[in-house]
Amino acid sequence: MKAFESTRLYFERAADQLDMDGSMRKLLLTPKREVQVQIAVEMDNGEIDTLIGYRVQHDNARGPMKGGLRFHHDVDLDEVRSLATLMTWKTAVVNIPYGGAKGGICVSPRGLSRKELERITRKFIDEIHDVIGPDTDIPAPDMGTNAEVMSWIRNQWEKFHGFNPACITGKPVEAYGAEGREEATGRGVGILAFKLLNRIGRKPAETTVAIQGFGNVGFHGAKFMHESDFPIVAISDVTGAYYREGGVDIPAALRYAMANHSLEGFDGAERISNDELLTLEVDMLVPAAIGGVITSANVNDVKASIIVEAANGPISPDADENLFERGVIVLPDILANAGGVTVSYFEWVQNLQYYRWGLNRVRQELDRVLADAFEQVWQVAAERRVSLRTAAYVIAIERVHRATVLSGI
Ligand code: NAD
Repeated sequence: MKAFESTRLYFERAADQLDMDGSMRKLLLTPKREVQVQIAVEMDNGEIDTLIGYRVQHDNARGPMKGGLRFHHDVDLDEVRSLATLMTWKTAVVNIPYGGAKGGICVSPRGLSRKELERITRKFIDEIHDVIGPDTDIPAPDMGTNAEVMSWIRNQWEKFHGFNPACITGKPVEAYGAEGREEATGRGVGILAFKLLNRIGRKPAETTVAIQGFGNVGFHGAKFMHESDFPIVAISDVTGAYYREGGVDIPAALRYAMANHSLEGFDGAERISNDELLTLEVDMLVPAAIGGVITSANVNDVKASIIVEAANGPISPDADENLFERGVIVLPDILANAGGVTVSYFEWVQNLQYYRWGLNRVRQELDRVLADAFEQVWQVAAERRVSLRTAAYVIAIERVHRATVLSGI
């Protein structure tokens, strides 16, 4: 199933709960604008490469649109559209004043030099600068992009529009970025996993965890969960997975990944495959890499009783239904990984006010926003006897619907 089709299915399930009519469903699902651009760049070897870039702006009923930029070889319009839609529900479920958007370039950044990456990024912004900005659509990092890329984007956008660091978030801290933004998504995953355990009366120290992906989200998620006493028995990245029954030495793995930009060669654990990691005998599974990793093909082998969707769209709808029927608790992506967009919002607020918060304030406010959202989702799930995912969508869709109606169609 294509990515947008999955998002639409989750939307429809929640819209059924709300008895929403067909015309409103169509309005809320249809993106406002989809941009596809040609990015022609000279590579280091002198050859011209022509890439395709996308920006999909899904909805702005609740505020300027917000969403990351992904540089990955699987990026296509369908995936970007699905992720843009997810952003609308994500910003709504944590109740920050944004709509949803997403963008990306179909390219594999691992094969590029730093200079090639910079030229591609700047050329992309040349093509889309007039449809993004601090009051319309504010990009941020996602897979394959980081603070440095955000800094190039700011610089390129400002060449057309003048100084305004609020045009992009996820910037380096010393260049109008926010303290705590880099760790925010992974930290949020850990905070929410902790709150979920509290709700079901379980202790972190008695909950074994496997984390797939050791990039921005997996790295900071593992760090926070380790510091919160969770025994993490498996970690992985694109090079493979690493398992140790008694718990992986997470500080050593973090140091290794920082030094080598990959887990390849990490010798503190037994080497297994990424597929094996997903079906390990653990209590909690944290997919924090790519979409579509738990499907009807492997869902019956998944043994974890809790899944925290740190990545966007890691579970296909049929697998999701199977997990719900089996009583597996799934903390859905639109809540589980919302820590990043929440701190992006704090960064934007600070930029607009020319004011800087300290790390403690960022962490406290993040905790408050996620705690409120988690409690609301938990309550709606209990009242309606639905999954946490459907509950999160119900809350989000209601908010976007209300804002749409209030502003007049
Ligand atoms: P990243 O590029 O920093 O890291 C991705 C990680 O996944 C890397 O460790 C990579 O090696 C690994 N990986 C890639 N393909 C894999 C595969 N086939 N099997 C196993 N591991 C694989 O990306 P990120 O920013 O950490 O994002 C990860 C996920 O979290 C994505 O789904 C993204 O959309 C989502 N997300 C990220 C943020 C954010 O703030 N960065 C916010 C919300 C959601």
